[in-house]
Amino acid sequence: MIVPRRWAAAATAAILVSVVLSHPGSGTAAPAPAAPPRVALADDETALVRVQLRDQAQLDQLVARGADLANRPRSADGRILADLVLTGVQLAELTAQGATPVQVVQRAGDGERHFAESLRAAQARTAAGLRAPAAGQRTASAAAVDTLQFLQAYWWTSNGQTFVQTQVATTATDDPDVEITVSWRAADGATGSFPLFRFEDSGEYQYHYAQPVPVPSRPVQVTATSSLGGVSRPVTPAVWPNATPPPLPEGYQKDFIDAYFTPTDIQARIKRLARQYRDLVDVIDLPNKTQGYRRTAAAYLGDPAAAAVVVESVRFGDQGMNGVQVRTVDPGRANRPLTATYRDRVLTVSLATDGAGKVTSSTDQVAAVINARFANRFQAFVEQGSAGLPMPVVAPVRLDDGLQGTEVSTKPWTVQALRIGVHRDGSRIGVLAYSQEHAREWATPLVTLEFAERMLANSRTDPATRELLEQTEIFVIPMVNPDGANYSFHDFDFQRKNLVNHCTGVSRDPANRDSWGVDLNRNYTVGSHFDGYVGASSNCLSGSYAGTGELSEAESRNVVALAREHDNIRFAMNVHSYGGYFMWPPGAYKADGRVTLPRPSIDESKLFLDSARRIVGAIAQERGTVTWPSQTGPVADVLYSAAGNSADELYYELGIFAWDFEVGNDRWNPATGQWEGVGFQPPFDEAHGESQEYAGGLVEMVRVARDYAAAQEG
Ligand SMILES: [Zn+2]
Repeated sequence: MIVPRRWAAAATAAILVSVVLSHPGSGTAAPAPAAPPRVALADDETALVRVQLRDQAQLDQLVARGADLANRPRSADGRILADLVLTGVQLAELTAQGATPVQVVQRAGDGERHFAESLRAAQARTAAGLRAPAAGQRTASAAAVDTLQFLQAYWWTSNGQTFVQTQVATTATDDPDVEITVSWRAADGATGSFPLFRFEDSGEYQYHYAQPVPVPSRPVQVTATSSLGGVSRPVTPAVWPNATPPPLPEGYQKDFIDAYFTPTDIQARIKRLARQYRDLVDVIDLPNKTQGYRRTAAAYLGDPAAAAVVVESVRFGDQGMNGVQVRTVDPGRANRPLTATYRDRVLTVSLATDGAGKVTSSTDQVAAVINARFANRFQAFVEQGSAGLPMPVVAPVRLDDGLQGTEVSTKPWTVQALRIGVHRDGSRIGVLAYSQEHAREWATPLVTLEFAERMLANSRTDPATRELLEQTEIFVIPMVNPDGANYSFHDFDFQRKNLVNHCTGVSRDPANRDSWGVDLNRNYTVGSHFDGYVGASSNCLSGSYAGTGELSEAESRNVVALAREHDNIRFAMNVHSYGGYFMWPPGAYKADGRVTLPRPSIDESKLFLDSARRIVGAIAQERGTVTWPSQTGPVADVLYSAAGNSADELYYELGIFAWDFEVGNDRWNPATGQWEGVGFQPPFDEAHGESQEYAGGLVEMVRVARDYAAAQEG
């Protein structure tokens, strides 16, 4: 394999953006924030940044343009926060439009470092304030008193700190200036209050809410008051999630994850589990091979900053096209026509000359002659800004696929599923867990592999686990998107999509190499972009590009194929990161009127919520992480509309109770009084913690399935 090179990077001129955190709102228990951090990105540096947006319109604009929204835009404390993957240039643009960066969650390169650290640690083990909103213009005239109702009031204790979280609805739904304050009284007699903030989605009022607020002890009463004079009835907050899984038996085995896993590591782990637990595991090769970790080879013929033609191979770089050379030559004689020849892996374009022997070919003509003569081997297009310019004489340049992972197999990948159970014949209720649809979500296969191995290892020592494997069948796809994952490990940390490049024309400029691919979790058939639902893009460079059509991608077809083939599967969990969510259908709506996919029935909604509480309880058992009640619910309500996602596919097409995790909950920082995002590739300790707690959640999902099956029979 030839030595790949990085495509030319733009010059770096660092921009610095200061961040000013305002003081927490009065009445919150948060201490004063620490010195404001500085958020600084070089122009061409890519990072994951938590940004406070100017207003809802700015957010809508970002969504419409297909921005790479890593996390839910939250109106957490009155501010609209969004976690965005962007370059320094893009951040400067947003800042100029009124946005403010508040946290660099992860920089490009952090993932690589955290991966290396995780390997070192594994080797070592083997050897040994919240801001209040701008005061609204209060209506001076006598406005009608509104009625307030608590939709949610919950409390919990996490790592010694008690929190309260509430949602309140006002009947004054159309008044954007209503201010709602919640007063609380705690068991120890302490009192306090905090403001709620209006939450609108797609132009529709939803409710007022706030992030969880720390309180000194269990809150025994909350009351809401509004600036219009409304007062709610006092309510006693309920404990959340109020479900505790059975205690782990003595000797329960866990912690099978000692580092981040590349696709090759995952393949090896699957193989090892199958060998070690022959009596309990089958490996299923899913039917659609991926493209493989491959790209076409390309080069700039000329200087992209001046005049250039992009020449690209039709075949992939590893299919003999890396290293092929392209050049233009001056024929050195008068009145020569423009010609192109290909010999000995060199494409030579001989430029046309006039009567005086002067070269006369333009960039467009050069691209055209290559396309006309060698359409089966090359495609050429004029670099943006180079149209109609004189074509320079260019010394040979080498085509290259630009891929950095020299040790990675380029073969189309066979995605695999583990099938686990005592009876692997479809006679028991089936549970499916699948992860890493999004390549950069490195913690997610750690969750599903830890889960699989817990079930297998403990089946030999723990009768309760053995019993679960008697009564259920478990399917696990640890890595839906291996090609994208390889790219995320070796080329670009923030790769979300697969590696299939559906772009045409100038979008194929190699400068866009980190933006190609299909968002697999927008490529399914229910409530899709193609059906007019919100939250996916037709732009091939968008982070949420839906593909050329429903199920255009091998990876998404694999998930559907497995679920269709095994119709005993009734429960599924689609594991993503990050943010700490627990969600179910509907996952999409149409913008006009915010019409969601059909709501589950009352009975099914109850099943979704009751089961979620059990699973959230199991997650909390590991290290005290409590998924917020405000982030537990239908996708379209608690996160965003995600047109064509896989959980909707499984639920509406196949009748599977289909959930989504976003592992990696925000961590409470008592020093700053802020909830902080963890990102896609946190330091390994955090990823390890996520794998442990969410594997516990998946085990509880198996118990939920067992209980559901028993109730059906009963
Ligand atoms: Zn994801």
